[in-house]
Amino acid sequence: MRKSPAVARQFRPCGKPDSAGDEVTFQGIHKTGIPCLERMYGDRVAVKLTNKCPAYCVFCFRRWTNAKLPEPAQKDLKRAAAYIKKDKRITGVLITGGEPLREPEKLEYLIGLLGKIPHVTDIRVGTRAPLTAPKLVTAKLIALLKKHGIEVGIHFNHPDELVPAAQAIKKMTGAGIRVYSQSVLLKGINDSGPVLEELFRGLRSLGVEIYALYHCDPVKGAMPLRTTIEKGLEIKKYLRAHSTGRINPAYIVDTRVGKVEIGVDGTIEKRQGRFVWIRTPYQYPKSLLPGGICRVNRDGTVSVKYRDGEK
Ligand code: SF4
Repeated sequence: MRKSPAVARQFRPCGKPDSAGDEVTFQGIHKTGIPCLERMYGDRVAVKLTNKCPAYCVFCFRRWTNAKLPEPAQKDLKRAAAYIKKDKRITGVLITGGEPLREPEKLEYLIGLLGKIPHVTDIRVGTRAPLTAPKLVTAKLIALLKKHGIEVGIHFNHPDELVPAAQAIKKMTGAGIRVYSQSVLLKGINDSGPVLEELFRGLRSLGVEIYALYHCDPVKGAMPLRTTIEKGLEIKKYLRAHSTGRINPAYIVDTRVGKVEIGVDGTIEKRQGRFVWIRTPYQYPKSLLPGGICRVNRDGTVSVKYRDGEK
């Protein structure tokens, strides 16, 4: 089997951990009181089915927090479903982890509970299994996803990943399941227009919708893999100039108050060394905002301070 340094680097601790990185880069603005249920937005939530993965990505924003959490049990999933049922604003649920496909029984159980909630119209599963554990993409799983019309978000960062994963992806798209991709911009791995163009063309040829390119979060231990937001915008321009819009994903920075597509629904207001102030479209009461890094603007939108990477 061919070895890929670009794939290996994503799973192997890199360089000296940067003490400036954070163990917690994400916390839902709304406190649900249920450890497996995260809520950042009004209309959608994330339910974590497990905190474990077949392989651990160095840059994962849940890397440190998941390691400290107990595994969600059926009773926790039941509580999460009851919370969702009570709030009619919630129409979307992302089933995530860890790797949710590791837990087929819990997955079926949760989907069964969510399927009985009329206002939940959009259920998605986020997975990296087509790369890290393709055997988890079973005929039984595909039948379950098809039966409930569930969309699958896959995570791919480099064209080398498509070699072992293509078959598992094709099993899903060939069965008529909607599959979309998310990628993380990683310095020295995929911070190049041509590399990402090849990745997105490859995914599209497998029937995948190209959805998002995320700026790498300021996670402790991931600093050597982080580049700047400006670099991401340069790559966006390259993709626009060289390819169809169908392989040009939204470029998103995941701030502490929510996701922001730079240049579309958010802007960089100013740079202060390694930090940038990002103006977001979100409006929250001050009491819900993380302390010390947010400012409420005159129009009610929130600006947030964000630690960027380095070129
Ligand atoms: S597979 Fe996903 S959840 Fe697991 S470590 Fe990687 S990014 Fe995190």
